[in-house]
Amino acid sequence: MTQSTDRNSELFERARALIPGGVNSPVRAFRAVGGTPRFVQRAEGAYFWDANGTKYIDYIGSWGPMILGHGHPRVLEAVQRAVQEGFSFGAPTEREIELAEEVAKHLPSVEMLRLVSSGTEAAMSAIRLARGATGRNRIVKFEGCYHGHADSLLVKAGSGLATFGHPTSAGVPAEVVQHTLVLEYNNIAQLEEAFATHGGDLACVIIEAIAGNMNFVRASVPFMKRARELCTQHGALLVFDEVMTGFRVGLRGAQGVYAQQIPGFVPDMTVLGKVIGGGMPLAAFGGPRALMEKLAPLGPVYQAGTLSGNPVATACGLATLQEIAQPGFYEALARKTRTLVDGLSAAAKDAGVPFSADCEGGMFGFFLLPQLPQNYSQVMKSDAPAFGKLFHALLDRGVYIAPALYEAGFVSSAHGDEDIRLTVQAARDAFQTLS
Ligand code: PLP
Repeated sequence: MTQSTDRNSELFERARALIPGGVNSPVRAFRAVGGTPRFVQRAEGAYFWDANGTKYIDYIGSWGPMILGHGHPRVLEAVQRAVQEGFSFGAPTEREIELAEEVAKHLPSVEMLRLVSSGTEAAMSAIRLARGATGRNRIVKFEGCYHGHADSLLVKAGSGLATFGHPTSAGVPAEVVQHTLVLEYNNIAQLEEAFATHGGDLACVIIEAIAGNMNFVRASVPFMKRARELCTQHGALLVFDEVMTGFRVGLRGAQGVYAQQIPGFVPDMTVLGKVIGGGMPLAAFGGPRALMEKLAPLGPVYQAGTLSGNPVATACGLATLQEIAQPGFYEALARKTRTLVDGLSAAAKDAGVPFSADCEGGMFGFFLLPQLPQNYSQVMKSDAPAFGKLFHALLDRGVYIAPALYEAGFVSSAHGDEDIRLTVQAARDAFQTLS
């Protein structure tokens, strides 16, 4: 495709004149890998077509929500029906109850929940509730975990880890993040030390239990077990940010994965987004009744939203949740994802490329490292220039993965065995470009 006929480049130029960086969310801009973002014209099933009409197998799926692929017929029908009925009321609807019931049915830790419009809003509100309920200000987050862009969560570690952090973004006052303690992921000793020093002041520990914002790093079972014990001992709330993993790694989310290995395991609060909206702006946070009843209008913790529980978004989310609750759904999804990961691993091995990969349900991640990393500094050792080359070699072969080495990938039920086979074949060719 020559530059003069490349609609993606034309659109990117137009976008850059008006929208900062040409995109409405930074990672879409291909800054980490270089080149021109693909502007999506339309999408169907496991594919999308860009502005030039080029088809791609899509492993981003809107960064996680599209677990049924694009335009699933029953979801489409539900959305179309909802639009006809009216698309925002600012008054309650029956569908909000149905969606809440559907979510709570699968998550034993969630007795009550509140619907919001984005993961950022859900995480921010969960933190406020944790602080309001405990009367404490300090929170723990882990380096490499992302919980949206609320001020108190946009924080990186200070000069050493286990310090109160520095703002990651201009515009966030140091005073706002002075209550956020940033710790190393999977470091039990550091967590114990933090509780020994600050335990009585900690409102909550917020964690991505399978950290998709480090591509794919699991919290070890001993680490999670200890986090649970310490939170309980010190009266801090354990908040699971399942915006990415909720209904993605399994019907019971990441908490279901840990409950299988730690008897009786439950988090105190759960933050959800992405899949529960099926591609529409919908997110939620939930937990035990006594905690959730501290929210306005019942309790003193304020939280609100003009579009919260939007009728079109709830129709989309509800139809999606009903599909994925069908027997055998996650088994089939996990089998496909595993086939992909095994195929990529074999292709890398044959090409002599250092490679490690992991997956759970319909979520996967890989690193250009011989062993799976356990924390953020190990993730950052992955070879960024080689990743950029691999990304473009795959893109040229019609495979669209996240344009950054610290982002997870997503398989949908619309991906067929043939799509997986073609992807592995493309990866075989792409890995050759690295050697
Ligand atoms: N939490 C996690 C784990 C996420 O992955 C994200 C977004 O990717 C968020 C929170 C923020 O969600 P949103 O982009 O809907 O605000």
